[in-house]
Parts: sequence; structure tokens; C-alpha cells
Amino acid sequence: PAYQADDDRYSRMTYARSGTSGLKLPRISLGLWHNFGDTNDRRTQRDMLRAAFDHGVTHFDLANNYGPPYGAAEASFGRHFAADWRPYRDELLISSKAGYDMWPGPYGDGGSRKYLISSLDQSLQRMGLDYVDVFYSHRRDPETPLEETMGALDHIVRSGKALYVGISSYNAADTARASEILRDLGTPLTLHQPRYSMLDRWIEEPGAHDSADARSLQDVLDAEGVGSIVFSPLEQGLLTSRYLDGIPEDSRVGKDGRYLSSDNLAPDRLAKVRALAPIAEGRGQSIAQLALSWVLRGGRVTSAIVGASSVEQLLGTVAAGSAPDLTADEVSAVEQALAA
Ligand code: NDP
Repeated sequence: PAYQADDDRYSRMTYARSGTSGLKLPRISLGLWHNFGDTNDRRTQRDMLRAAFDHGVTHFDLANNYGPPYGAAEASFGRHFAADWRPYRDELLISSKAGYDMWPGPYGDGGSRKYLISSLDQSLQRMGLDYVDVFYSHRRDPETPLEETMGALDHIVRSGKALYVGISSYNAADTARASEILRDLGTPLTLHQPRYSMLDRWIEEPGAHDSADARSLQDVLDAEGVGSIVFSPLEQGLLTSRYLDGIPEDSRVGKDGRYLSSDNLAPDRLAKVRALAPIAEGRGQSIAQLALSWVLRGGRVTSAIVGASSVEQLLGTVAAGSAPDLTADEVSAVEQALAA
């Protein structure tokens, strides 16, 4: 039977404006970096996408090389899109990126106009889409002039292949310049996608990641009116109860270990996670939900992109999209837990 979205979906999520743009994002977005490769169960993928949308998650985050193999997550999303999502296209935000290694030779990596434009054409083909909602430069390529990379993003919007543009993991100084270049071109920078969690707070720190800018990334984004959508807010699963009793076989650490390994599970980090448990409990939340409410605290971050390997996990995290903001007392209790 054809998929029919739940009528109550928009009452289960809150939405926030990305910077000073007209675009609203769900406070929780779903990322397809893991669990949408060729060896992952297609039924689980289908069910996670459906459960997400049924709970108001209108935004799906992809990139050219998500898999494995590279391209597989987009191809898989394309198959689900064809089966379930066509009638809902105008209710969805679908994002992709280029910037990391994708195909052999000098044109399949980095930030050149050549790479970004041809990669997006390939992404659209794999997903069976005419356009993406947001297209990102996935990382700053110091060997390509910023003017060229931003010019490619501007061209992509003008050619109708993306509605909005973003940058990911750019430091504060490069972000300020990118925003200025794009503004001059007439295509505003809508979104920045940085890594951010209780255990990685670089976006709050002035001069982080070799930035010549004396401001933090967050200060630059506020000044420029650019929204932020943060990745790995659960620190890939560490900021949940997943690893509190050892390493489950079916976990990211247990299965692969390339991106999150047992080295990341040092006792001092697990102690911080345990110290969060009573604060979460006091709010009627899980540790994962607290970690998400924390990145979204005070409304400074527009959306948090979670990953999930099951519908159960996904439902456990999307609930944070409609949770009340942390109180000042809860914020300081978290600071204490993290300092322990
Ligand atoms: P998270 O920090 O949300 O980690 C997701 C993992 O946490 C899941 O795979 C699962 O681990 C575990 N988890 C999720 N929910 C629960 C729960 N309720 N209880 C227990 N464990 C849970 O994010 P990701 O690192 O997956 O990144 C999210 C997205 O961000 C990516 O899909 C991608 O779209 C984007 N991203 C962007 C990057 C960039 O450079 N711009 C880089 C990295 C990510 P398990 O699999 O072990 O079950």
C-alpha cells in the first residue's frame, strides 16, 4: 500500500527560522551518513524515513559520498523517494554536499567550480530530483579561491539546481568572508553546518580551527544572520546510554570503528555521560534527548541533525524537537557534569 503521512505530523515538531532567511527547519533533522549504505536493511531505511516525517522531520541531510559505497545513500534515498515521497516533495527539504573525496582524479575532491557543479548533477541523478533544497560546500578547500567556490554555489542557485546554499565546517574567518562574497553575488548564505555537541564546543570558542577571526563561529553567524545546523550532536552515539554497559555488537563502534572507535570511549568521557543521567531524568528525558535539547538551548542553533540505526532510536531522539528549552539551572548542572 502507498505510504500516507500521519495527519498529526506538524503538531509533533517545532520549527525554527534559519538566521534571517525565510526558511524554517525542523529542530531535529535526519542525516543519512550511516545506515543508508548498500548493506543496510532497506526496510529499516524506509521505516526510519517514514517515522521521521510522521513526526514532523521535514529535512533530510545527505552528501555525495555517503554510503558505503560512495553515492549509495543518495541512490537509496532516491528509491525511497520514488516509492513514497513524490506527493510530498513540497513539504520536504533535501540537502546534499560536495567537498570530500568522491571520484578519482583532480576533479572529484575539494572546492573547485568543476567539482561542485558536476557533483551536484550526479547527486540529482542518483536521487531522481530536479533540485535540492540546500547545497553545501562540504569543507573549505584552501587550494581553491573562496571566490571560486562561492561563485559555484551562486551559479547552482541561479541554474535552479538548489534553492539555498550552505557551507560546512568552515572556520569563523572563512565563514565571514564566504558570507560577504555570497551577499555581493546576490545569493545569501543560508546555513552553516558545523560539528557541535557537549563534547565538542569549538563553535563557541574565539579563533577555533586556525581562524584569523577573533570571534567565535557562533558570533560570526549571528552577525551575518546565518543559521546553523549541527552534526553529530550525540557525538555519534556516545552521548546516549548506548555505551554505558560495554560496546554493543550492532553499534557504530562495534561494527566499524573508523569514525567512532573504542578510543573515544575513555572512562572520563563515559563518566561525564553518566553524570548527565540524573539531569535528563529530572526533565523526563533520555540522555540522548538532553544532549539534543542542550545543543538547541536558547535558540542559537537552528537544527540538530541526528543519525539513527533503528526506528526506535529515531523516535527516541525526534521527541527532543518539541521539548521545552533548558532552564538556567539545568544549563549550569550540565556544565558541572561536563567539568567532572
Ligand atoms: P549522531 O551524533 O546523532 O549519532 C548517531 C548515532 O547515535 C546513531 O547511529 C546511533 O548509533 C546513536 N543513536 C541515535 N539515537 C540514539 C538513541 N535514541 N539511543 C541510543 N543511541 C542512539 O549523529 P551522526 O554522527 O550520525 O551524524 C548525523 C548526521 O550529520 C549525518 O547523518 C550527516 O547527515 C551529518 N554529518 C555531517 C558531517 C559534515 O561534515 N557536514 C559529518 C558527520 C555527519 P548506532 O549506529 O551505534 O546505533
